[in-house]
Amino acid sequence: MSIVDTPERRQLRELTRAFVTREVLPHLADWERAGEVPRELHATAAKIGLLGIGFPESVGGSGGDLLDSIVVTEEIIRSGGSSGLIAALFTHGIALPHMVAAAGGQSGGLLRGRLGGGQVRGDDDLVDRYVRPTLAGTMIGALAITEPDGGSDVAAIRTTARRDGDHYVVNGSKTYITSGVRADFVTTAVCTDFPGSGELSLLVIDKGTPGFTVGRRLEKLGWHCSDTAELSFVDVRVPVTNRIGEENTGFLAIMQHFAAERLSLATQAYATAQRCVELATRWCRDRATFGRPLASRQLVRHRLAEMHTRAEAARAYVHEVAARVAAGEPVVTEVAMAKNVAVAACDQVVDQALQLHGGFGYLRDAEVERHYRDARILGIGGGTTEIMNEIIAKGMGL
Ligand SMILES: Cc1cc2nc3c(=O)[nH]c(=O)nc-3n(C[C@H](O)[C@H](O)[C@H](O)COP(=O)(O)OP(=O)(O)OC[C@H]3O[C@@H](n4cnc5c(N)ncnc54)[C@H](O)[C@@H]3O)c2cc1C
Repeated sequence: MSIVDTPERRQLRELTRAFVTREVLPHLADWERAGEVPRELHATAAKIGLLGIGFPESVGGSGGDLLDSIVVTEEIIRSGGSSGLIAALFTHGIALPHMVAAAGGQSGGLLRGRLGGGQVRGDDDLVDRYVRPTLAGTMIGALAITEPDGGSDVAAIRTTARRDGDHYVVNGSKTYITSGVRADFVTTAVCTDFPGSGELSLLVIDKGTPGFTVGRRLEKLGWHCSDTAELSFVDVRVPVTNRIGEENTGFLAIMQHFAAERLSLATQAYATAQRCVELATRWCRDRATFGRPLASRQLVRHRLAEMHTRAEAARAYVHEVAARVAAGEPVVTEVAMAKNVAVAACDQVVDQALQLHGGFGYLRDAEVERHYRDARILGIGGGTTEIMNEIIAKGMGL
């Protein structure tokens, strides 16, 4: 039996599928056109416990571990949702874990025992002010690391936070920030030493703080229902109490959290591939050319068989790595390999699935068209394919 196929996880799957069928599918095309998902969706997802999966009940979550989060992600896409929807509705999956961990909690089973060490400190206040309301669906958070000068080299962050009494004074800018247009607060990576020193800290910055401006809504190839923004900080005064954990521990916290984000993106990749195999198989059974269904042609059957194999192999590997991460194994290299394996499978499968749909695959009416556009970000976000290869090469001792 697969590790994600327990009776409890089958129930979680059913809950997720019912949510997508009832609350998402009738509206997704409208949200894609609007460029964002409505706030009410967060509240609805929170009410049935979906938003809090992977976060401990002690901070307002629904409990569960990394594998439960994977089940939810997988099922949202398999039921006709999208990776863009996950980016928009589950941005808290990247905005909150540092706060939870610094307060001594755990999230997604990923940060267990590595940060916080069980200590309870000022971060409890951050849990009350940001984590609980976000998991209750009444606040939206974002994570801002990437800057216009570059995203891959996190240590080179140039947004500065200078200490001034009980405040930090923040100056700089961020870009490509998911949910940045709608976010009520932004978990922001800042340099607490000289720019480029790599001495980073994480500050929670409230929307509306003087000097903090949300710039234009960025238009994108895919992920249309997920709003993306540029952020600017000019002499923004942020209370020291809004710092997550100790000063200059931000780089470590960011790196540790990347594992969860990368496994989520890997899950979105193989689940998108699986969904596209289903869509293409259905299409090839129904569509007849030269008097016979496409699926009766050996070439088409073999192509579908190869697509299915790629998607299933990627899924099995991602699950294996996720189980090892949940068990507390330090598998940084394997996480990078899991992301690259799943993204490569996804890229190939969505391309072939669209091709099998013929001209219809190129139309906005075709679900496969959305997956084709949405999938392109998966090898860029959360660390690019090339940066994953750097990590893998390092793990090989190269
Ligand atoms: C839709 C979307 C949503 C996003 N959401 C967020 C978010 O919520 N928060 C956030 O902080 N960021 C977010 N990002 C930013 C994303 O994480 C970055 O785009 C990504 O990390 C790459 O950084 P970059 O774009 O600056 O590319 P660069 O770092 O400039 O890299 C450009 C190219 O060079 C390659 N490259 C870089 N260094 C090396 C090297 N040493 N060797 C070989 N090749 C190299 C890269 O792989 C890439 O192909 C988002 C981006 C998009 C498009």
